[in-house]
Amino acid sequence: MELADYHTLRKLPTASGALWVKPGAPGQDDPAYALLARTAEPRGRVLDLNPGVGMALAGALARGLEVHAWEDRRPALRALEAASAQEPALHVHAALPWEVPEAAFDTALLVLGAERGNDWVRAQLAAAARALKPGALLWLAGDKKLGFERYLGWTRKLIGPGEVVARERGRRVALLERSESPAPEPAPQRTTITARLRGREIAFSVGPGVFSADGVDPASLLLLEHLPAELRGARVLDLGAGYGALSLPLALEGAHTTLLESQLASVRCAEASFAAAGAQAELHHSDVDEALQKDEEYDMVISNPPLHVGGRVVLDVAKAFVAAAHRRTRPGGRFYLVANPFLKYEVWMRDRFGNVRTLYADRYKVLLSVKPR
Ligand code: SAH
Repeated sequence: MELADYHTLRKLPTASGALWVKPGAPGQDDPAYALLARTAEPRGRVLDLNPGVGMALAGALARGLEVHAWEDRRPALRALEAASAQEPALHVHAALPWEVPEAAFDTALLVLGAERGNDWVRAQLAAAARALKPGALLWLAGDKKLGFERYLGWTRKLIGPGEVVARERGRRVALLERSESPAPEPAPQRTTITARLRGREIAFSVGPGVFSADGVDPASLLLLEHLPAELRGARVLDLGAGYGALSLPLALEGAHTTLLESQLASVRCAEASFAAAGAQAELHHSDVDEALQKDEEYDMVISNPPLHVGGRVVLDVAKAFVAAAHRRTRPGGRFYLVANPFLKYEVWMRDRFGNVRTLYADRYKVLLSVKPR
């Protein structure tokens, strides 16, 4: 796939005629969304707390309801923004779950974001509890294999009583009613983790829903070990930067770092990590290289690319990362990547750059391509 194709939005005909899709955007072809879309009977003011491209909220739009899509991932936001440009009843919020207003909605739709971890699910459920008026309804969808029953238990405690109303293979939809109590939970606190990276003890801000919140990923450690020792003054682009595990150590060594990250939750953590370390960087909430200027190029591109993106669209994203790395490396510049062995990065890197070297191979592989002059 060419990079331009990755960045292309496509209209998807629905009952309300309002949806758009693109590669890398979660919530397409996802049976949990499909079951929720068929089951939910939204009313009043509607909040979707995990909309992706908007599969579950299309029905509410078709009924003429006011719909608020709460989303932190840029690929999904690009699709939703395209939809809302033609659908005035759709309001798109690039925001975090704990930023929802209190007691403002009559219906909430939520496909559990289990792939982002328990803390993220907890934050989504707390957001539903905060946002719903007493007596309002939550339509909750998920997958039995991804902990639906356990999460339903949490939801009853946070929201109120409710039962499973639809089942299809492993997917479930439950309907719950917001009771007068308990009071909503406070927003989750960010915490700090530390790691010894390239000879320095470095602290990172982490929060719900970010990659490797328990500690710096061993693959990221490996990549850092294989980068050149001297990077002062180098212009470095970090693709899929997370909370800054790769970039912050390089910035502290005097590199000029630019971070691209699709999740707002992670961007906010990276901002806090850099600020606390007194380091400078360009930080962008960006779908791959969407946020960069046409001609921006770097001496070095580094990446520990995602393994999962809302379950199934990871291949498109992985290939787009390699294509963007090629486009954004200056002639003579280098692209370093670390990955699990099972994706064919060396093939894609050789296709683009004409060369690839394996610097390390074991549980992870560290690969290097040089852009010809
Ligand atoms: N570099 C960080 C994070 C690696 S995980 C570290 O080493 O710890 C991969 C990151 O890519 C995740 O933070 C994920 O949110 C981000 N990502 C996934 N899809 C993306 C996209 N389309 N554009 C930009 N970043 C993306």
